[in-house]
This record gives sequence, C-alpha cells and structure tokens, in this order.
Amino acid sequence: MLAYRHAFHAGNHADVLKHATLVAVLQHMNLKDKGYRVIDTHAGAGAYALGGRAAQTRREFDTGINRLWEAAGLPPLVQAYVEQVRLFNGEGLLRQYPGSPLLARQLMRPQDQLRLFELHATDHGLLAGKLRGDAQVEVKPADGFTVLKAQLPPPTRRGLLLMDPSYEIKSDYPRVLAALREALARFAECTVMIWLPQLQLLDAAKLPQRLKAAATGVAPKGWLLARLSVARPRERGFGMLGSWVFVANPPHTLAPALREALPWLAATLAEDEGAAGWACEAG
Ligand code: SAM
Repeated sequence: MLAYRHAFHAGNHADVLKHATLVAVLQHMNLKDKGYRVIDTHAGAGAYALGGRAAQTRREFDTGINRLWEAAGLPPLVQAYVEQVRLFNGEGLLRQYPGSPLLARQLMRPQDQLRLFELHATDHGLLAGKLRGDAQVEVKPADGFTVLKAQLPPPTRRGLLLMDPSYEIKSDYPRVLAALREALARFAECTVMIWLPQLQLLDAAKLPQRLKAAATGVAPKGWLLARLSVARPRERGFGMLGSWVFVANPPHTLAPALREALPWLAATLAEDEGAAGWACEAG
C-alpha cells in the first residue's frame, strides 16, 4: 500500500528544482507550434493548499517556495517558475502550490495533451476532480511505469515524459531506469525528465550514473543531470540532502539556464550552513 502523500512536501526544495526545470522545458517546447503530449507517470494530487493540515505539518514550503516568494534578483529560470506559481495563485498571496499536472496544464496550448497517472486512490480522486471535463487531459488510476507502450510515441512525435516517483518502494529505482530505457527505445527523441532524491543510500547514489549510461548514445540530444543540495551529509545517514533532475534530450537552453540558477538556489535554499551545493553536467 502506498503511504506517501505529496501534500506533506509540497513546495519544498525538491519541488523547486523539479518544477523550475519543468517550467523551463515546457516554455521551450512552446516555442514551436506543433502540439506535444506531456505524460506525467506519478502525478500526485495536482495542487496543494499550503494552509491545509498536511502542508502545515512540517511546513516544508518554508525552506522552498516561501524563500523565493519575496526574494530579489531571481535568475531568469527561477523567475519564470515563480511567475507560474504567482499566476496559479491569481497574483495574490501564496496559498496554493501547483503540482506538476497543474503547472503543465497552465503552460499548455490548445494543441497540446496531458496524460496523468496516479495510483493512490485519494490523490487520484483529488486530481481527477480538479481536471474533470477538460478535453485535453486524461487522468487514470494506473501504474505509471506500465503506460509507456500506450503513450509513446505521441501522434505528433513531440513529447515530454515526467517520472517523479516517491521512491518509497525500493523497486522504484530499477523501475525508473527500465522505464527510461523503454521510453527511449520506443521514441528516442522524447524528452524524459526524472526526479530523484539525494540520499545516503546505495540505490539512490547509483541511480544518476545509471540514468546517464542508459541515455548515452541513445538520446540524440544527449542528457543533462542537475543537483541541488541543501543539507550536509548526516552522521546517521537519514534524510534527504537535496535532489537531482535528469533530463534526456533536454532543450539546448536548459544547461546554461540551470548553471546560472543553481548557485543562487543553493545559496537561497541552504538549510545547513556551508552545506549547499549544486552540480550541472551534460553529455
Ligand atoms: N509529480 C507530482 C508533482 O510534481 O506535483 C508529485 C508526485 S509524488 C512525488 C509521487 C506520486 O506517485 C505519489 O502521489 C504516489 O501516490 C504516486 N505513485 C507511487 N507509485 C506510483 C505508480 N507506480 N504509478 C503511479 N503513481 C504512483
């Protein structure tokens, strides 16, 4: 049974890295008229009330989106992301945090499609409720790792596959790697975005190298791997130190934009003194 609920983590540093990257990728895809399909295999509930009980439990957004909300001198990639969160909030106070489905929905054009998969019954219900009646969107209570055959390649041969598992089940590590391989075998030009946690655990530590190896020589536009670390390694080895995003076939503008944004994000979102760090590698 799945226990993870994204509402407890909405707007944290990991969401900042993932969603700032997602906004940059979709804004780049919007430069061409031809429609695309976004496939979000682990969609969550779609959006989160930051005043709600779950988000208030640990207030992870305080060290994430909240630190950016009133900050000055935002790098362009961060500015574009914060603008999307502001737009979602009707330009007012930060009350609602948009998850990947509603950020994607906000950025899509009429010619684009959104395919959402979420296994947790409660979060699937919340997500489906938010997007009911939207002809451009399909929401299914399915295992997102099993849908690639039906979804790829999209009819227009333009697509973004977002895989954002919670990694609460150990098998998520091999499954995300297998799904990257399957996606690129079905549609080598697909832009594939994968979020992964930075943890002091062997499976998590090995996954970035494995993703790079799977995309090398297969994805025609190469890959990008970015890390945002906010905490120092712990003696007892628990807890998330930061996170990574891996992108196969990234837009050519993404690496320079992330290299400009990440030092600023690392300094702004640091939780431990002297702990913050970042990396951005492309191949
Ligand atoms: N992508 C969302 C966002 O950025 O707003 C957050 C997703 S959250 C990190 C991961 C979600 O995946 C959880 O809601 C969990 O219930 C769901 N999940 C876990 N395993 C799944 C699977 N095999 N297929 C589909 N959803 C799954």
